[in-house]
Amino acid sequence: MAARKPKPADAIADLVESLLIELGEDPTRQGLKATPDRVARALRELTDGYGVRPEDVIADAIFDQDYDEMVVVKDITFFSLCEHHMLPFFGQVHVGYLPKGRVVGLSKIPRLIEVYAHRLQIQEQLTREIAEALNGALSPSGVGVVVEARHLCMEMRGVERPGGRMITSCMLGTFRRDPRTRSEFLDLVRPPTV
Ligand SMILES: [Zn+2]
Repeated sequence: MAARKPKPADAIADLVESLLIELGEDPTRQGLKATPDRVARALRELTDGYGVRPEDVIADAIFDQDYDEMVVVKDITFFSLCEHHMLPFFGQVHVGYLPKGRVVGLSKIPRLIEVYAHRLQIQEQLTREIAEALNGALSPSGVGVVVEARHLCMEMRGVERPGGRMITSCMLGTFRRDPRTRSEFLDLVRPPTV
């Protein structure tokens, strides 16, 4: 007789085991034995943004700088889970801001995005949270954030045509008020037309 397997350490693993049974699976079969633990570890990692304060992520990388031209960081890849189905949505974030005496180290922007993406999200909120975090930390003249993403909860379930992307944006300050600033930003992040 097989020894009774040790109790999983993470409560999520127990829940996944019940889920497997509910789905009609046998969690004791070879291929699934380690699955509850693996799923628990994966879910913990993909939601580790809950334990982090976004302002702490960038606090030590904000520098006083007399630079007042637009700073743009584009094509930052992110992966998140939608809060409606807990299925992946993923794509690119483009960020721009007009500094007013303060800039942030460029490597910190992807990290900031990850903190918000590693929570259950909807794309509109993710977009706004990134923009507001930069606005709060840098007090720039303006911030623009554009997010393009594919949503597996739509594509896998056949609601939408596979490959379709959803685009959201959040414009603050001069990016909202000044059409020229906004179009300069949008021109910079627009993919090259072929
Ligand atoms: Zn969804």
